[in-house]
Amino acid sequence: AGRRVGVLGLGRSGLTAARALRAGGARVLAWDDTEKPRRAAAAEGFALHDLSRPDALQALAVLVVSPGIAHLYPRPHPVVASAWMAGVPVDNDIGLFFRSYAVNGRAPSGAGGAAPKVVAVTGSNGKSTTAALIHHVLTQAGRPVQLAGNIGRGALDLEPAVADEIAVLELSSYQIDLARSLTPEIAVFLNLSPDHLDRHGGIGGYFAAKRRLFAEGDPAFAVIGVDDVEGRYLANRMAGGAVPGRVVQVSSECDLSGSGQGVFTRAGVLIEISGGRRSAMVDLRGISVLAGVHNHQNACAAYAVARVLNVGPEAIEAAFRSFEGLPHRGQVVAQKRGVRFVNDSKATNPKSAAQALQSFDRVRWIAGGQEKQGGLGVAVDHLDAVVKAYLVGAASESFARQLGETRHEICATIAAAVAKAASEAAPGDVVLLAPAAASFDQFENFEERGEAFIAAVARLPD
Ligand code: ADP
Repeated sequence: AGRRVGVLGLGRSGLTAARALRAGGARVLAWDDTEKPRRAAAAEGFALHDLSRPDALQALAVLVVSPGIAHLYPRPHPVVASAWMAGVPVDNDIGLFFRSYAVNGRAPSGAGGAAPKVVAVTGSNGKSTTAALIHHVLTQAGRPVQLAGNIGRGALDLEPAVADEIAVLELSSYQIDLARSLTPEIAVFLNLSPDHLDRHGGIGGYFAAKRRLFAEGDPAFAVIGVDDVEGRYLANRMAGGAVPGRVVQVSSECDLSGSGQGVFTRAGVLIEISGGRRSAMVDLRGISVLAGVHNHQNACAAYAVARVLNVGPEAIEAAFRSFEGLPHRGQVVAQKRGVRFVNDSKATNPKSAAQALQSFDRVRWIAGGQEKQGGLGVAVDHLDAVVKAYLVGAASESFARQLGETRHEICATIAAAVAKAASEAAPGDVVLLAPAAASFDQFENFEERGEAFIAAVARLPD
């Protein structure tokens, strides 16, 4: 209260932070490099203050930076660089969230009540699905729970916590990297594959960002996917110490053994081990929204979290069965003339696209967009099911070169690609949007891209 706080970046999380800071009595100095978000903030009565002007950072208690703004690589945003020179602490909404209740012992909104237990979920892929699944399981189990973070609702937008409240936060590497406070009760690491490398100075920086949730967060419990080498390393680092069962290992690729806690899947059946013994099983085979090895990993992680929070295996299984999944992730949009249309617009990196490609037998693959560092990467090792690729957006020419012998055609837009793929498809084929690239060359975000796919499919004759 009463202090000057700079908020740089006025998108969803920035505006949410600005509102929370104002509600807490801070004097908010809001800024964004582009006009539209500035107008939105001004319309809410925030004082705009060009933080790039000389002396603009004087007497700031803290500079709150949005996840979309580079703070280190490829180069720091000039305002962030100035904050360092001026000795102004740089933080973000996640740091404020943890700090506000860790210090005051109160819910982040300050409206009394207890601090929530925080479950923080990170990883390269599957964060949203896992966070939403945890939220769903806990809701079904009758527990007070809220969901926020990278998933559509800012962390500072949560309602005041009631007693025994659980807050599930989906956290991206950017969010974790910049947060000055991290105190999750349960931290979840799903997997690691190359993504956002330009923003982290390479894969080592990317992993280091995610690892902060564990190294600095020091969670009471760590649920860790061990199907990647980074996960195995992390599980090893976190194990031992005073609390038995602190680490729960998760795998959808191999059977887990050993004396600790673990959750793994074998042939579509989820198996819990505890103290080296098998203790419960859940058959995932009939649950279509959780189909695929990648979703089994998510299911194992959600199961592990729910068990740590004392939800019984039967209740978890029942909740899995009523989970509806999220749009734009392996979403079956329509079946027309025997051809299935699947929207996986959220497959914005090579690994998630590769997972999607492995889920079907005959794929007409719509890919492209704004290419990531490393191009198609691991996706080129999973082209067996691809009958033909239909390339869109800025990456088209480059992806065409990387596809080599695989049949492909440059279609420019999603609408053209859908029309072409549908006209060439045979019954049994799947027309799959799994771009392996970001959406920003042609769309605001991956949701808009997915909607463009859905609209194009809707225009096809039945
Ligand atoms: P995130 O929030 O980490 O981006 P999502 O749950 O939104 O994760 O899924 C992103 C993309 O990754 C989707 O294309 C989805 O099908 C795929 N995916 C989901 N879970 C996993 C996983 N555990 N491993 C690899 N890919 C996954």
